[in-house]
Amino acid sequence: MSFANKVVLITGSGSGIGAATALSFAEEGAHVVIVDCSEERANVTAEKCKQFGNKVLVITADVSKKDDLDKVMKKTIEEFRRLDILVNNAGTVREESILDGTLIDTFDDVMNVNLRAAVVLTSLAAPYLIEAKGCIINTSSVAGVEARTGYKYPSYTISKAALNHFTRISAMEFASSGVRVNAVNPGPCFTNIFANSGTPGTFEGSDKFTALKKICDPVEVANLILYLASDKAKSITGCCHVIDNGMALL
Ligand code: NAD
Repeated sequence: MSFANKVVLITGSGSGIGAATALSFAEEGAHVVIVDCSEERANVTAEKCKQFGNKVLVITADVSKKDDLDKVMKKTIEEFRRLDILVNNAGTVREESILDGTLIDTFDDVMNVNLRAAVVLTSLAAPYLIEAKGCIINTSSVAGVEARTGYKYPSYTISKAALNHFTRISAMEFASSGVRVNAVNPGPCFTNIFANSGTPGTFEGSDKFTALKKICDPVEVANLILYLASDKAKSITGCCHVIDNGMALL
């Protein structure tokens, strides 16, 4: 799966799944664009990616802001003159409830990062992806395909369900241009998403909710993203690929 000289833009690549994905693409020869609202985290990922000798561009941006997304595309094209692969990965979560009304204050923030950013950036990137006959991978979640009792993050699940449908509908729109669009739907995966989102939560004990009684490593999700972006997956578009240790089975 060589990505030599491909330009790959990954949002939320300062940490977790995005950082693992940036590193894996860099290892396979890609030039990577690291986008994150945390400059510090983005720079840590960038330093790791640089060991492979390809170009690394860091852009500090809040993906929930249209102006920042304009800046992301402008800087990417100024630097590389092309974009081959877009990974809409930045995500955030809030502990909230529909019943006590706390969701009313958090809904927009979650939707703007997890859904709207992917929609807007996909549109901004479309001409370049079409020119490159490239592809898009959206990082969704198994939470977007199932509803569970006691789940404390309703905006998050709604945003991921919508992101799955955005994946399908954009795959149809892009199909005639040869651009493929897929989503990965991870189950629990050891990252700092709760701390980075400033909300309570832990992955401790999540293994008992999966059939395989373990949770994902971010590198495993990165491996799936690279596969979907590769020519090995050239017949796959519009699909939401669950990687959850069998959580959705239970
Ligand atoms: P993470 O917090 O480790 O990484 C997410 C990165 O996104 C962080 O560096 C954060 O700064 C960045 N980010 C958040 N809001 C941003 C914004 N407005 N603008 C720019 N950057 C922003 O979390 P992660 O678990 O690696 O999450 C990556 C993706 O994977 C998310 O879409 C998440 O919903 C999804 N996911 C995670 C899990 C899990 O269990 N960790 C499971 C399913 C899906």
